Amino acid sequence: MTDQNVNGDTAILIVAAGRGLRAGGPAPKQYQRLAGKPVLTHCIDRMTEALPGVPILTVIHPDDSRLFDAARQACADSRMLLPPAAGGETRQASVYAGIKKLHELNTFIKFVIIHDAARLFSSNRLIQHCLMDARQFGAVVPALAVPDSLRRNTADGFSEPVERSGLLAVQTPQCFSFDLIRQAHERAASSGRTDFTDDASLIEWSGILVKTFPGESGNFKLTTAEDFVTAEALLLARLADIRTGYGYDVHAFCSGDHVWLGGVKIPHTRGLDGHSDADVGLHALTDALLGAIADGDIGMHFPPSDPQWRGAASDIFLREAVRRVRALGGMIAHLDLTFVCEEPKIGPHRDAIRASIANITGLDLRRVAVKATTSEKLGFTGRREGIAATAVATIRLPQ
Ligand code: MG
Repeated sequence: MTDQNVNGDTAILIVAAGRGLRAGGPAPKQYQRLAGKPVLTHCIDRMTEALPGVPILTVIHPDDSRLFDAARQACADSRMLLPPAAGGETRQASVYAGIKKLHELNTFIKFVIIHDAARLFSSNRLIQHCLMDARQFGAVVPALAVPDSLRRNTADGFSEPVERSGLLAVQTPQCFSFDLIRQAHERAASSGRTDFTDDASLIEWSGILVKTFPGESGNFKLTTAEDFVTAEALLLARLADIRTGYGYDVHAFCSGDHVWLGGVKIPHTRGLDGHSDADVGLHALTDALLGAIADGDIGMHFPPSDPQWRGAASDIFLREAVRRVRALGGMIAHLDLTFVCEEPKIGPHRDAIRASIANITGLDLRRVAVKATTSEKLGFTGRREGIAATAVATIRLPQ
């Protein structure tokens, strides 16, 4: 099942250009975080797990490039992600922009799976089923019978019942023959139609029959603030394997005029000696994360004997450890870093260091702690011979 794209004839188009205002919150809903990752990241991870090797084009709002970059970096595997396309005024215009971009990139595409970024619980079975059925029927959508009784508002402020038998609620992913959906969008655009809310109704308008297959009640679309609460609980329940990792590092002072601590350059009367930039804080954090996933240590992944790490900025070590956690489907719950030194004073740089670590790891600032202590003039740190750092990482892995 996982080699459905061996012929390279399929692409996935994720529609993420909306503003998502109904959910509230500081960012469009597809970029709000759930269980430590943007909603869009969860959606992309679902797709790459269900259909590995199938390229993914995301259609985004032109203002959201930086949000998209952060979402891409948080993906378990971003190798199949194409550079995003800019969306339009309506969902229909955004999908059409994505289809045109895919056509430019690859004229051999036979099938396209179109999916809403706000649906992040589609199962592997649903996604794979969608593509298999499209190969047979040309245009397929998941749909579910409506369980609730239905009513419609009437003009007098009351309501009246609607017969629900035969009514279906339509979901995504929807999958289509690429040529058919591309031509349907072309015709709709040239006819001045801009009001189609999904691609099934658009392709049907163009005269193509649409086949439905059973959707999933779990494949709900994040819409309200309440949906976000439900989604967060579902995601965290899956990340029930909670691990703690510990890291420790020391670097000795040498001549110099600055030190790197937690990715921040701090002017000082001496430097720190080391093969890389000797950022004792980032090294301790890297080892803490590697410890939490029982994946060796920093020296194993980045041997000091390898000349390519000479003078390296240590954020690359920490980024790699974060990538390894995410590749396991994991979430970093918290990082707690402590410097042990008499000098330089950490306090004035604490906020900058926290912000730097949050930026490198993609974590919310509230999940990054930076502390400092002296060793009361005892030992090598007390004698101002160097700086030590300890770190604790708490992560959550899927069970
Ligand atoms: Mg080190």
